[in-house]
Amino acid sequence: MRGFREDAVLGKCTFCGHKVTEGAKGWADRSSRITYGRWVCGDCLVGMKDAVDLAIRNKDSMGDSNEMLNSMLQGDGLRVNPETGKLEIVETNKSSPARLDALKNKRKK
Ligand SMILES: [Zn+2]
Repeated sequence: MRGFREDAVLGKCTFCGHKVTEGAKGWADRSSRITYGRWVCGDCLVGMKDAVDLAIRNKDSMGDSNEMLNSMLQGDGLRVNPETGKLEIVETNKSSPARLDALKNKRKK
């Protein structure tokens, strides 16, 4: 299998312009990552640590927004699809026992 030869430049860090090279021994090169199609060197990754930690803490403390929306929409026959994030109509099964009971109760009144 063909690979990159030693010291071949794989790319440049999007933020600082550091050249990421194949086979480099430095920790910044060895911990470089491609994120959303762009190189980010280890040095810049470490520099983002505080911001990333804060973002994760905020995300965890906010809870799942889809769950909050679904609890608000309950009873309106709508829900947020967890995969697409779009509103969809909840399938109403006419033969479900709960619905039949509701219909019977309506008739009695
Ligand atoms: Zn960098």
